[in-house]
Amino acid sequence: MDDTTPILHEALDGMIRAVRSACRATRAVQSDLVHAGTLEKSDRSPVTIADLASQVLVLSQLGVHCPGVPAIAEEDSSVVRGDENEGVRAAMLERVRAEWPEATEEAALAALDAGGHPGGSTGSFFVLDPIDGTKGFLRGMHYAVALGLVENGQVVASAVGCPHLEDGDGEMGALFVASAGAGVWVLPMASSGGVADEGAAVCSSTTMDPRDVRLCESFESAHTDQSVSARLADALNIAGEPVRMDSLAKYAVVARGAAELYLRIPTIQARSEWIWDHAAGALLVEEAGGRVSDLDGEPLDFGQGRKLSANHGVIASNGDVHDSVLSAIAQWE
Ligand code: AMP
Ligand code: MG
Repeated sequence: MDDTTPILHEALDGMIRAVRSACRATRAVQSDLVHAGTLEKSDRSPVTIADLASQVLVLSQLGVHCPGVPAIAEEDSSVVRGDENEGVRAAMLERVRAEWPEATEEAALAALDAGGHPGGSTGSFFVLDPIDGTKGFLRGMHYAVALGLVENGQVVASAVGCPHLEDGDGEMGALFVASAGAGVWVLPMASSGGVADEGAAVCSSTTMDPRDVRLCESFESAHTDQSVSARLADALNIAGEPVRMDSLAKYAVVARGAAELYLRIPTIQARSEWIWDHAAGALLVEEAGGRVSDLDGEPLDFGQGRKLSANHGVIASNGDVHDSVLSAIAQWE
């Protein structure tokens, strides 16, 4: 970075540390799952343990680095309280203590419950998805630890850990970091340096021709209407098959120019979106030179509470193909 680079958001250092710590915990759980050969079994407790440990680690560290800033997070302590949940609670605490040795049960539960902010269009709050893509996590595939900072309804900083994306230097595990107006960078996940020491700037692709568009969408057909995106791909003459992957790693893939388009089309099961599934990812794409809107071309409004209730679906693109996608959608309606 040089002197003309706009200043990174001051909360970013704490956000980076928190996400790296959470990713170490989630990777340890996923790697034990792979070794135990228990992937794709119906037991969801490993993902619960990893999810909750991730939320404890992020929210407790934010409490230290950024005291007084509230948070919206996906989980709370209800699933680990009570005698019947003692096993899951103990397993979660063990994962937390690998990163935060002095954590007490009481402090961990308090951190879990620190994510209940209602959101809204004024003030600042963090937005956390401790494991986005839980189904991918259980399949040993993509997931993300996604942390954003929202100020007055706008995302101003993001740290997104993607353990199954390469960091650009051949190592598995990439941490994407963005600051509004300053840019977006990829950092190695298993490291301790910040943006200034080891961040490599990323930018979206400059493909203009819709036929060359690489489309990504949810692996799970309940999360996006894959038949509508297939019709849209036909209408745009997109030649390649869609790449299906879990989590908001899809935003990172568009941000770094490895795909041009991410479509999320509402299904009957998924009519309105949670803000933690999009906030941190959307800033990555915008700061990389791309564009994010809903299916009507409206910007995503993160000031509506815990849901994106003013928006309908999501389009994230490299920017150049965005208007073509919007016109193809408008022609159907
Ligand atoms: P993806 O991995 O991109 O398919 O998205 C995963 C996210 O989709 C999860 O973290 C959920 O928050 C979200 N999701 C799954 N099912 C639903 C649903 N029925 N309504 C809204 N969001 C959903
Ligand atoms: Mg999620």
